[in-house]
Amino acid sequence: MNDLRAIAGALQQSRKVIISGHVMPDGDCVGSVAALGLALTQLGKEVTMALPDPVPEIYLFLPGAADFAIGESALTVDYDTFMVLDCSVPERLGVLRALLERRLTVCNIDHHASSHHFADYNYIDPQAAATAEIVQDLCALLGARITPEIAACLYAGILTDTGSFQYENTTPDTHRRAAALIECGAPAVMINIQIYEQKPLAHLKVLAAALPTLRLSPCGRVAWMSVTRELLASLGAKDEHVNGLINYARSVRGVEVALLFREIAPGRYKVSFRSKEAVDVNRLAARFGGGGHVRAAGCVLEGDLDRLQVRLVEAAVEAVKVSEA
Ligand code: 5GP
Ligand code: MN
Repeated sequence: MNDLRAIAGALQQSRKVIISGHVMPDGDCVGSVAALGLALTQLGKEVTMALPDPVPEIYLFLPGAADFAIGESALTVDYDTFMVLDCSVPERLGVLRALLERRLTVCNIDHHASSHHFADYNYIDPQAAATAEIVQDLCALLGARITPEIAACLYAGILTDTGSFQYENTTPDTHRRAAALIECGAPAVMINIQIYEQKPLAHLKVLAAALPTLRLSPCGRVAWMSVTRELLASLGAKDEHVNGLINYARSVRGVEVALLFREIAPGRYKVSFRSKEAVDVNRLAARFGGGGHVRAAGCVLEGDLDRLQVRLVEAAVEAVKVSEA
């Protein structure tokens, strides 16, 4: 069943709703949770906007984002409905996965091609550029008014998941949706400045320290970088300051696949995958237990950094060859 109306119906029956996105939240995740939270509050529901990990500083300006319940603090309350947004697998709920063990009505709204149907109601649309687009449709089904605050959150989700309307998930429909949100009062210029022109200095320091790790495969089609815990600690930087780094590896001329290895715990690496125009990195990441989208995916692996790099770079080079055959 892939019916957004059924989810709207379930929400109409609900009273106490918790909304969450995924670990290491991005702009679509924060924007979607905040937008739906504001809409349901407007409709008279008791709402908790939650996330397993803290909201990255660059998204704290979004209406509602500063009020999120983070991590286990969201588990102390009783709810009747659990809305899971932008989260393809239960594992990516982090500590909030515990809510799946309770007798709640669970709704999963997502746009990942690799999304699992783990909820009572699942609405998965891989054609949607962002989960925020689906939340926009859900707000319409619920009869919620798109206030400037809700519009700002939805716009931020679409802006970030389309790489500022540059990636191939951007369609004429994406632009029409963005236009409608600006008409509802989303401050597009301010949002762009907040997200892309107000970076914490630590972000640029991580970039400067990570660029020397950039390597290119002999064929020139795969580029990769790494960020260790030691490097982050030496700069006083946080995990969120690593976000976006992988775009530099992908931007190298001739590169089709970029990989970023970031150590999230000692010996545990989050690997990000990006491709430019040919390789399906969702499939590539799936071979290592992860997933995502055709042009952006990820997985988590344990082991020795050098060995992991050799394994994944080899697999990426092979995937490029297959795509060119
Ligand atoms: P990022 O590299 O920006 O963290 O993630 C890129 C895309 O891959 C996102 O759409 C994200 O949901 C997905 N992704 C990232 N890490 C994982 C993971 O460990 N498992 C799965 N299934 N998907 C992931
Ligand atoms: Mn998304």
